[in-house]
Amino acid sequence: VSTWTNVPAGPPDPILGLQADQDQRKINLGVGAYRDGDGKPYVLNSVKKAEEILRASNPDKEYLPITGLPEFTKNATKLAYGVDSAPFKANAIASTQSISGTGALRIGGAFLGRFYPHSKVIYLPVPSWGNHTPIFRDSGLEVRGYRYFDKKTVGLDFEGLKEDLQKAPERSIVLLHACAHNPTGVDPTRAQWKEISDIVKEKKLFPFFDMAYQGFASGLTDRDAFAVRLFVSEGHQIALAQSFAKNMGLYGERAGAFSLTSADTEEKSRVESQLKIVIRPMYSNPPLHGARIANTILSRPELYAEWEAEVKGMADRIISMRERLYNELTKTHKTPGEWGHIKSQIGMFSFTGLTAPQTKSLAERAHIYMTADGRISMAGLNGNNIDYFAESVSRSVK
Ligand code: PLP
Repeated sequence: VSTWTNVPAGPPDPILGLQADQDQRKINLGVGAYRDGDGKPYVLNSVKKAEEILRASNPDKEYLPITGLPEFTKNATKLAYGVDSAPFKANAIASTQSISGTGALRIGGAFLGRFYPHSKVIYLPVPSWGNHTPIFRDSGLEVRGYRYFDKKTVGLDFEGLKEDLQKAPERSIVLLHACAHNPTGVDPTRAQWKEISDIVKEKKLFPFFDMAYQGFASGLTDRDAFAVRLFVSEGHQIALAQSFAKNMGLYGERAGAFSLTSADTEEKSRVESQLKIVIRPMYSNPPLHGARIANTILSRPELYAEWEAEVKGMADRIISMRERLYNELTKTHKTPGEWGHIKSQIGMFSFTGLTAPQTKSLAERAHIYMTADGRISMAGLNGNNIDYFAESVSRSVK
């Protein structure tokens, strides 16, 4: 008999494990990857130009240091924290390249598990990105939830959120989506962020920001860094996971960064020495190509400007799809119910409010796929499929 006879089959990944449906009308709104106006994957022009520059420079394929390409991590932290941030100016941000956002979260979880002296409990919003729980559980942390989404209003449960953070044991870790919350598309307002910062301060919680969508919420990378920069300017020490998967379209290149703000340059060096010890047995050192692309864009003003315009273009296309979907659902198809949230939600995703049976029937009858919780990727909609989508949704709720 085989050694693996007793290995049970695991459940399929709810998003990446989707369907082999070949129907012409098929719409896949499950996966969180940007699609252009023709429904095709989109390679940014700034990325293509960066690759040309790299090719011309004929770079070698030597190993990177354990913490990655130093200029890349420097430019990544600059993008997130801003040049005016105190820890950036003081050279007190400990940082490392990571295997995209997932790897950043995993390094952060492992580092906190080993060195955060006060607690091994991390609070996640309910709901959160489906991978957060296994990432932090596998990092050795205990995962708990704080209320985030209100099904009745299809908006933020701010009272519940505040109550739960206030009830959390002092010095617990709290995970915050920096912008464009996945899966709900609901973000706190600036005033609400300030209140959250106050509670975090009062309860001495440790804020861990996941910023997988910088630029995707508003179209402006600076604006989307508001919460991170607010917390830093309010004197919090933070952890931050960054991904260039979405905002540079570098999904499979796995370019990301993890960072922690520290007291000074000496402490930063100590923290980085331990980040290396966390990373080395996991994967030795990170991949080259994506970090080189991202760094080429971030370090050249003309490419940077072109990239920012492309980020804005992606965000704007998504926002225009929200408008159009709202109009189709309400005006064209007179769909029962309240649909204002389609327009007010932020970023790549929309929590439609569709129920699990409705999403099942959309898959079976209309070849339209989304996650069972009713989350759709707005980026999967375009001028060619949005009418069919709206009509099908309308039919499913009538
Ligand atoms: N965090 C959130 C909230 C996400 O939605 C994602 C991707 O979907 C990630 C992190 C990490 O993505 P990646 O590892 O591709 O950068």
